[in-house]
Amino acid sequence: MRKKYIAGNWKMHKTASESVALADALAVSLAGMKDRKIMIAPAFTALSAVGLRIAGSGILLGAQNMGPEEQGAHTGEVSVLMLKDLGVQAVILGHSERRHTYLEGDGLVNRKLRLALRHGLEVILCVGETQEERDGGVTRAVVERQLGAGLEGVVEADLSRITVAYEPVWAIGTGKTATPADADEVHFHIRSLIAARFGKRAAEEQIIQYGGSVKPANAAELMSRENIDGFLVGGAALSADSFVPIVRYDRGK
Ligand code: PEP
Repeated sequence: MRKKYIAGNWKMHKTASESVALADALAVSLAGMKDRKIMIAPAFTALSAVGLRIAGSGILLGAQNMGPEEQGAHTGEVSVLMLKDLGVQAVILGHSERRHTYLEGDGLVNRKLRLALRHGLEVILCVGETQEERDGGVTRAVVERQLGAGLEGVVEADLSRITVAYEPVWAIGTGKTATPADADEVHFHIRSLIAARFGKRAAEEQIIQYGGSVKPANAAELMSRENIDGFLVGGAALSADSFVPIVRYDRGK
């Protein structure tokens, strides 16, 4: 049975004090939800303060990105050692904003992923096609390439620390959501790719999140699909009023 995993990516929003206020609200509202896994990824500048506030709440502390080396001449980057020192437990890699705005390629994403695993961090590996790629009928090929390259060098035992997030680029921050059926079809494809490479059992256990304009109103329907095991949430993760009902998608108010 795959545990539902809901992660909030706060992107370049909120000062440290604003982040603490949101973290406090989430820690109260989501206390005791033991049947699901929850992660929040504030900006680097708020990790330390948020980490202290959510300690013991069951909410994981995540980072939104990470440098590809342990240390060195990488101006502006933040290393895995620095993240671990702050108590970070998970890192989002290959987000479409990193791939498309900062031109991070599959090889770089894979280097970061391997480094994160080597240091015991969990990873959310994001994959997903652009609108142009979807219109061109190459969604499956794009996802296959990003997943294959992203997981280069990974062995089956690593998969329990890797979550795949399917995030169609055209649905991120746009208000457009993939239909539950469309998302489930791509998730099924991702699960099949995992099965082909790592075996059926690994594929059955693989957590695959959906991301792209998830909100309280569409969370339950998306999550009802067989292959959707959780969400990576952007905009709606910035307020407890929208993130809490997404996490509690099946609990009413
Ligand atoms: C994201 O940034 O990963 C994301 C899915 O954003 P949004 O929920 O705002 O579409």
